[in-house]
Amino acid sequence: MKTIYAFLAFLLFQTALYAQITVVIDPGHGGNDPGHCGSHADHATEKEINLKVANYLGGYIEKYLQNVKVIYTRTGDTYPTLDERVDLANSSRADYFISIHCNGNHNANVHGTETHVHSLSLSKSAQFATNIETEFTSRAGRKSRGVKDERDLQHSLQVLKYTNMTSVLVECGFITNSSEAAYLNSTYGQEIIASAIFRAFRTTIESQNPTIAFRKTDNTAPVLTASTNTTTTDTKTEAGANQFKIQIASSKSAISTDDYYFKKTGLSVERKELNTSSAYKYVYYAGSFNSKDEAEEALNTLKSKGFNDALIVTS
Ligand SMILES: [Zn+2]
Repeated sequence: MKTIYAFLAFLLFQTALYAQITVVIDPGHGGNDPGHCGSHADHATEKEINLKVANYLGGYIEKYLQNVKVIYTRTGDTYPTLDERVDLANSSRADYFISIHCNGNHNANVHGTETHVHSLSLSKSAQFATNIETEFTSRAGRKSRGVKDERDLQHSLQVLKYTNMTSVLVECGFITNSSEAAYLNSTYGQEIIASAIFRAFRTTIESQNPTIAFRKTDNTAPVLTASTNTTTTDTKTEAGANQFKIQIASSKSAISTDDYYFKKTGLSVERKELNTSSAYKYVYYAGSFNSKDEAEEALNTLKSKGFNDALIVTS
């Protein structure tokens, strides 16, 4: 009898040690189905942005979490049917399903993020969706249009209705809105969106699977937030005159100043690596001005272009 108890205890121990959850990441559309298309000729179609955000998200999960298996419904420009996406998730006995999309509307003013669930009565899915929208507003600085279910859409979404697990469909923003389209086309925007979904995913799985340890020892949260809370110390130029610049962003990893996100400033952008203990080592400055008045005028223009956290610094 003792042996049996010992064996059962061993089994329980093994289960706790090796318990693993599976997440299926589904980049919407693909192949002959481009999804929504924006009005700019040089902008990517929805299917391309979905794939990039999905890849960043999967990458963060692999890098920062353990005991999570990631499966993608597509990794290239192919079109698995909706049935095939559902079948893959169900047959892999996945615990979570995240479909990544971008929205479109005939009204170019409409913008913001949405996360869909099949029904708000599915509490695990609703909790996950709420966590995603919370991250979008609190850390990514996006406008949230909220969590929606089939009653809001007045039809059900196949990948949410027929998947047997906690399932969400994320609309990362409207590529028919010029400012949001530029953001979604930039590496900067894609990384912020993906890291917001990542943090929401981590919060969700930790609260829904309390017996599993998900964080790797180096559990620093990845990458970007929109806020520029890293400030630089004032230094005088050799001539003793202050130059004013506008700090528009900060990041953990170096992003090219040619990135689409920075282009819409209409100003020359420089990147500086700070000697700081903050994880946000890289700051980005737009323009260079001789007077504070000029800098303030440029700051107002930048804010009207969506750089809400921009601030004036001297150098
Ligand atoms: Zn879509």
